Amino acid sequence: MNKKIILSTLASALLLSTMANAKGRKTHKQMHNAFNISSTSKTMNHCDINTTIKYTQTEQKIPTFSYDGNTSPSFWYQLSSEYATCEKGNYFTTVSKEKTHQSPINISNIKAKTPNFTLNFNMNIEFEIENNGHTIELVPTEDFPKASIEIDSTIYTLQQLHMHAHSEHSIDNAFADMEIHFVFQNEDEFADSLHKYAVLGLFVNSDDNNSNNELEKVFTYNLPEKYTTNESNIIINLENLLPSNTMVYSYNGSFTTPPCTEYINWNIYATSIGLKSSDLEKFKKKYNHNYRPVTGTFE
Ligand SMILES: [Zn+2]
Repeated sequence: MNKKIILSTLASALLLSTMANAKGRKTHKQMHNAFNISSTSKTMNHCDINTTIKYTQTEQKIPTFSYDGNTSPSFWYQLSSEYATCEKGNYFTTVSKEKTHQSPINISNIKAKTPNFTLNFNMNIEFEIENNGHTIELVPTEDFPKASIEIDSTIYTLQQLHMHAHSEHSIDNAFADMEIHFVFQNEDEFADSLHKYAVLGLFVNSDDNNSNNELEKVFTYNLPEKYTTNESNIIINLENLLPSNTMVYSYNGSFTTPPCTEYINWNIYATSIGLKSSDLEKFKKKYNHNYRPVTGTFE
């Protein structure tokens, strides 16, 4: 009930077709997780008055990826020539400040620093809540102002945020219960590869006594089933998601899902936020191991 049913599961096909023709916000938001199914979809009314069916206009047979079996992370590079970069993530190497690296990584023996970026987060934004088959994703709707991050005078616009459990990054080999990724893209289509994408990482740990009220809003309604979107949207002020201690770890990494694109400006908050255990369980009932293993250590 009360769901939009998305018929196509050919998310990767959409990603690839989108990357070939990338322009406009609707295509940008597909770049990180290779699954934003609704973006090139048409919407039409279904017989159920509370339900909307979306269907894709483009269908190609492109293999999907997963976190299990023969489509799990160590095999991603074999699934498509477009995923070749993912192979580098199979070799655990030391992360250097000078070179880009596959993500996620273990962070060890380095100190978090004052952010070298500015966030434009303090506003109410409406989000659709989608289950794209790999994670739960929050996609900003068109009618609200856009959140953004400014790094070295380059502005990247928020495309979506989504969750992994447990966390993808670790600190001294310790993982958080969850990690939220805020995915940003430079709207300038002529931007070079060093200035196209940025991702902000936020650790979340189970904490019934210090649960983040803003994050709890995501769990107001039942999380959508795979390939569906909740009919009810939510309104969040992203500023309220962030920890009071804003120190971050910064490095040059990659998307953690195919096609594992590199030269991503990563910033990860050193301080986690809390979420009540019942809400965390709601997510883990949908996805309890949608994380890529760490690919190196940053020291
Ligand atoms: Zn992610």
